[in-house]
Amino acid sequence: MNIILLGAPGAGKGTQAKRLEAARNMVQLSTGDMLRQEITSDSALGRKAKGIIDAGELVPDGLMIELIAARIDQEDVRKGFVLDGFPRTTAQAEALDRMLQKKDLKLDRVVEMKVDENAMVERIVGRYICVKCGAGYHDKFHRPATENTCDQCGGTEFSRRTDDTSETVRARLRAYQEQTVPIVSYYRKKGLMKSIDGMAPIDEVTHMVDEALG
Ligand code: ADP
Ligand code: ADP
Ligand code: ZN
Repeated sequence: MNIILLGAPGAGKGTQAKRLEAARNMVQLSTGDMLRQEITSDSALGRKAKGIIDAGELVPDGLMIELIAARIDQEDVRKGFVLDGFPRTTAQAEALDRMLQKKDLKLDRVVEMKVDENAMVERIVGRYICVKCGAGYHDKFHRPATENTCDQCGGTEFSRRTDDTSETVRARLRAYQEQTVPIVSYYRKKGLMKSIDGMAPIDEVTHMVDEALG
């Protein structure tokens, strides 16, 4: 099964994508994670993207389409993928359709995680991840069972994103409203959309995602 998780920054896409990887053996395709890897390796793309990401703006479509096209060429996506953070513009959605068609792949479902955007600042500012395995946590909503120790791997080092500040979140939410919300109707017209309540507790959202996928 191939799906898109759609939702504002902080909606819980990454959290649910990781659970789908574990539960359904799908592969998470996170363009945000891919861009952060490009920054870490100091590639030409990473150098271009860094300032744009920290300003809370979207990286140009051409670069993003190239990045995801190379990923979709890899064999492991055939076991089923969860797109997390892509597409974010109508041009990206149209390019994705063409890419999938060329590979003989089809999109089965788009799950929209509806959230109260005013609540997203708190979600994002409290977000951190385990450096060793990437597991996601939150200061208030999802603390590890043992203080400062990753539930998944026992790691004790955590990190926060440089763009997870309250100022940047506002720009990111604006970009979401202006550039990403139009793709909801794009997928609704294709009959692929299911909307769920992303404000529910994490386990309940997981259950709703599961039901949306059938
Ligand atoms: P996204 O990938 O959509 O930006 P994340 O999955 O990283 O969002 O979630 C943002 C933050 O909110 C993380 O710290 C995560 O632990 C927390 N979180 C995710 N889902 C929920 C939820 N349903 N309720 C409360 N906090 C959540
Ligand atoms: P979140 O879901 O928390 O908003 P992501 O990790 O998906 O964050 O993305 C972080 C940043 O990377 C975005 O604010 C944007 O600058 C850039 N980015 C990620 N995916 C895309 C995309 N598909 N198109 C344009 N920019 C992107
Ligand atoms: Zn870990």
